[in-house]
Amino acid sequence: MAKIILKNAEIVDYISIKKADILIESEKIAGVEKQGYFKDMEKKTDTKVIDLSGKFIFPGIIDAHTHYSLHSRGTITADDFFSGSVSAAAGGVTTVIDYIDFPEDGDFQKAFDARKKEAADSIVDYNFHQVIQDFDKNISKNLAQLKEIGLASIKLFTTYKRAGYMIDRNLWGRVLKRLKELKLLPTVHAEDDSLIQELEAVYKKRGLTEPVYHPFMRPDAAEALAVRDIGEEALKNEIPLYVVHLSSALALNEARRLRKKNAELYLETTPHYLMLNQSKLHSRDAELYFMTPPLRTKFDNEQLWSAFSIDNEFQVIATDHCAFNKQQKFQSNSALDILPGIPGSETLLPLIYTYGVSRGKMKLTEMVEMLSVNPAKIFGLYPQKGSFEVGTDADFTVFDPQLEKKLTAENLHSAAAYSPYKELKVEGYPIITIRRGEIIFKNELKTKKGSGKFIFAHSSDLFLH
Ligand SMILES: [Zn+2]
Repeated sequence: MAKIILKNAEIVDYISIKKADILIESEKIAGVEKQGYFKDMEKKTDTKVIDLSGKFIFPGIIDAHTHYSLHSRGTITADDFFSGSVSAAAGGVTTVIDYIDFPEDGDFQKAFDARKKEAADSIVDYNFHQVIQDFDKNISKNLAQLKEIGLASIKLFTTYKRAGYMIDRNLWGRVLKRLKELKLLPTVHAEDDSLIQELEAVYKKRGLTEPVYHPFMRPDAAEALAVRDIGEEALKNEIPLYVVHLSSALALNEARRLRKKNAELYLETTPHYLMLNQSKLHSRDAELYFMTPPLRTKFDNEQLWSAFSIDNEFQVIATDHCAFNKQQKFQSNSALDILPGIPGSETLLPLIYTYGVSRGKMKLTEMVEMLSVNPAKIFGLYPQKGSFEVGTDADFTVFDPQLEKKLTAENLHSAAAYSPYKELKVEGYPIITIRRGEIIFKNELKTKKGSGKFIFAHSSDLFLH
């Protein structure tokens, strides 16, 4: 097996930035040493040397929230695991954590086997969050299967009663108790369904269903209420709780209040809640900016950004990549029916680098922490993923801080074939993506369909203390 030496780059982990050379052997990191250390090996014929002067190397970026091949509302997302993972790799992502739908019969092993088949085309590595919509004796018992399968987290919805995803709130306590026993991390999509249903009915009755009304049907107050209610339940049960795609200042304040009471709350946000706001819903192609929770206001954008500057209040930035093409998005222009979701994996790193790190909202080391180290630790993949430790997977994102790019659809790879960020230019872009020692993307796809694999997760590091 060929060896690779990455030399003269600046290595960025969550603590420091230092110049070092990296030796890759087969799929693993074989050494991280001071510059020039591997000099004698460089001349050997079985060794490929890549000079990366002026570039950064990050541990492989992890998108902890994706929906590739999502079957929902009578259709399937434009991105399957192949096109989704190619777009991820083009954006420097080496691992994604996707979802497994809830099996009505409670057979998690069977659901996992079926989902793993769908993911088999992926070129990046992957793990899953398991959705739980119901709870009884059988489900409680079977949840133990997830530990053997190698999943670390489950997903609860406090909304989408109509679509069937919601778990009844009188089950929360029992579910959380069982998850605590099993050391499975609860993650939650937090929006209060009863408030949303009432508001939807009001707007529907008056015929106000265009996309621009969506944020009024699913207001920030609904998010804040749900964060409060399930946050209190987690506090009572003394279990950590991970909130996905937090979108609003109001919900952030609710999280702050809970943290003051010592709730163990971990927060994820996404680039779109930082970069975009509901002014997009006034445009002619509003459908292309339609997701749940909806885009908020400019004030919310600013408040979420400032949560990074003061005191890292977010632990993870992930994308909720859920790509539908224009034809799918324009099937309806009613906020009650538009397919929710936008593409995101490919633009995660360049957006956060340009508008976060370069604009002084966060340090480079903090970005690496939120885009790689923390997701690995929180979802039980560390140090195999997210670290530079010798013996772990050689997953690296090589990043050129000088490279400028416009985030137009032509420059991106998602089958959505449109870009929510088409007006934006980024300064800094991933140039080589290495997954388990293999260059999988460098200007173009470099690997075979299906070269990614399922990575077994141990218990979340959040259960260590
Ligand atoms: Zn999602």
